[in-house]
Amino acid sequence: MDLLQLANKNVVVMGVANERSIAWGAAKRLLEVGARVIFTYRKERSLGKIEKLLADYPDHPTAIIQCDVNDDASIQQAFEEIGTKFGQIDGIVHSVAFAHAEDLRNRFVETTRDGYAFAQDTSAYSLVAVANAAKPYLTNEASIVTMSYLGAERVLDGYNVMGVAKAALEASMRYLAADLGKEGVRVNAISAGAIRTLAAKGVPSFNQILNKIEETAPLKRNTNQDEVADMTVVMLSRLSRGVTGETIYVDSGYNIMG
Ligand code: NAD
Repeated sequence: MDLLQLANKNVVVMGVANERSIAWGAAKRLLEVGARVIFTYRKERSLGKIEKLLADYPDHPTAIIQCDVNDDASIQQAFEEIGTKFGQIDGIVHSVAFAHAEDLRNRFVETTRDGYAFAQDTSAYSLVAVANAAKPYLTNEASIVTMSYLGAERVLDGYNVMGVAKAALEASMRYLAADLGKEGVRVNAISAGAIRTLAAKGVPSFNQILNKIEETAPLKRNTNQDEVADMTVVMLSRLSRGVTGETIYVDSGYNIMG
């Protein structure tokens, strides 16, 4: 019995920069269960990486489309292209975030207006803009999943402006869930534990974070790309059809500890 029912579904995966990306973990699983994965990327460098990664999946129909989430016209164009090519969208994985390095390094009180706005724009507003551009093509059972982090609700050393952006992302996720629920569309966030990726490189003291999680988390280990990917697939599938507006933790239980 196919519990997931994701075969031949059109799922847009945003945010693959390389093989370590959380989005790539999700994409791999989606390809394995027979979904049609439509990738979006910002930089040409990522396009090359995605093409290389897809060499291992020659029989899977995919598309790779440019989309810079800081640019409304780019988002609009990307989703019009996806809509025209594929007709409908069954799922979206929003795995995109960015902040200026100095806003993670400096004292939080020194965050600039520009740095604050940029982190919000890229990491939180982008979910709203993407949902709106995708709306004409979303099916009445579509599911949108975004990636968050514990820094949304707790003060974590060195996470600074990105923590504020993740708080806005999770609130935006709930407002979108309430708004799009009438069309049957679900919106949820996965709060992933710390995973060594390109984005994580920008977070100072990342090694200490990994060590602390290993010592403190109930499972006494860090989570990984595969575990987040599995939950992402569940949240995109009919198995989670009764769930919307939630933040789901995939973090070895770290968030429950005092
Ligand atoms: P990553 O660097 O592999 O992915 C981040 C992606 O965001 C990249 O593909 C990058 O190109 C994309 N991006 C940035 N600005 C963009 C823009 N303007 N337009 C389009 N794309 C843009 O790192 P990752 O760790 O896989 O991050 C994915 C998501 O997971 C992020 O939201 C991140 O905050 C979140 N997250 C990461 C961790 C972790 O420890 N790695 C933990 C929890 C949540």
